[in-house]
Amino acid sequence: MRTIMEPFRIKMTEPIKIITKEERIQKLEEAFHNVFLLDAEDCAIDLLTDSGTGAMSAQQWAALMLGDESYAGSRSWKRFRDTIKTITNIKHVFPTHQGRAAESLLAMTRIKPGDVVPNNSHFDTTRANLEVAGAKALNLLNDEGLDPTLDAPFKGNMDIAKLEACIEEHGVAKIPFCMITVTNNTGGGQPVSMANIRGVKEVLKRHGIPLIIDACRFAENSYFIHEREEGYRGKALLEIAQEIFSYADAATMSLKKDGLANIGGFFVCNDDVWAEDFKNMLILREGFPTYGGLAGRDLEAISVGLMEALDFEYQTYRHATVSYLMNKLEKKGIPVMKPGGGHAVFLDAKAFMPHIPSLAYPGIALVNALYIEGGIRAVELGSVMFGSFDEAGIEQASPLELVRLAFPRRVYTQSHFDYLAEVIEEVWNHREAYAGLKITKQPKVLRHFSCHFQPLA
Ligand SMILES: *Cc1c(COP(=O)(O)O)cnc(C)c1O
Repeated sequence: MRTIMEPFRIKMTEPIKIITKEERIQKLEEAFHNVFLLDAEDCAIDLLTDSGTGAMSAQQWAALMLGDESYAGSRSWKRFRDTIKTITNIKHVFPTHQGRAAESLLAMTRIKPGDVVPNNSHFDTTRANLEVAGAKALNLLNDEGLDPTLDAPFKGNMDIAKLEACIEEHGVAKIPFCMITVTNNTGGGQPVSMANIRGVKEVLKRHGIPLIIDACRFAENSYFIHEREEGYRGKALLEIAQEIFSYADAATMSLKKDGLANIGGFFVCNDDVWAEDFKNMLILREGFPTYGGLAGRDLEAISVGLMEALDFEYQTYRHATVSYLMNKLEKKGIPVMKPGGGHAVFLDAKAFMPHIPSLAYPGIALVNALYIEGGIRAVELGSVMFGSFDEAGIEQASPLELVRLAFPRRVYTQSHFDYLAEVIEEVWNHREAYAGLKITKQPKVLRHFSCHFQPLA
């Protein structure tokens, strides 16, 4: 088989400044060993997130110029609405400035205190918005999804038996809707099968509970279904996506992911009452319903981006970048979470840095090592991000210590990934040299963004 090459060429470049190792040590100290506090320009390869960090195509840049900035009923809005209707076939379409704005308005209009909202795994903003409105956000992920070493095709699936038990326990009146996140971002970017979505929908339909899809990576999920699920080989990604949305009563999306845009989100729903309530809150918080916090040019770029994300060549290349890095790391025996996700590779920091106990944050030690050795910015998903305190105020470790290398879309080429693999290998070869850290300053919530660390050695 030949190399799967990037299905694009480059006509505009952005320089990468590579500072020296000594400078990086200095910068990291100034950032209190927290890579969130670094300047982006001091990072040679920035894999902090795949959200809003992608490169737009020539078609998208051209579409920007067609942006109609009329306040109400603009041409760009109609294009946005029609594109989303083509993909989802859902009746009411609302733009928002990000995914979390759609979540927040949904929670404000549909949640009452004491409600329960199941999901395969809630993303952190989804959980936070539901909880602020007084709901309990439940993760009903299949057991397969909880095992980082198990190689299974659809580790993002919801456990349908757990869903039935949840409805039994809490009762239909307490469950205003159920969500399913494709792909499962917090669970390693693992996909959900069509059979699972269909199965979840069947259970919900019996009880009259609506299904809302968190559709941030619907195109990556559609590709996984095409590759891994019986009966989908001959189908276009658009057809697969349309089938996913055919089971949904509503959907939220961050267009910073599979919208291939740098900003944007949407909410769609079939119910007229839901739509009316959402619209009124949208006007109050985001803007008139035909722009919802976005510029006309954003709506244009998003309309092009959504269809490009469903391009088969693009998805083939995108998934090849993940497999390429996974294969390189696995060959060296470097511990990674299996199988590769849709948008990221996850290093298993516990196995990578076994000499560092969980509460000395092996994930942060690894993140820091990757930055110092190669200027790579990654993110810890472990005891710092998910750490909690028990009633006695004693810090509890997270079950998994992962480091996520998220891939911005269409930004880095194969040589960047080769460089990345070399740096990771170098850190692996000297792993005993890296020490754990302690936290010297932290806020009460979402501490990973701003806390300060100090190395222990
Ligand atoms: C990014 C993301 C969101 C939130 O979207 P923002 O645009 O960052 O507000 C919600 N759910 C999932 C699964 C996400 O990945």
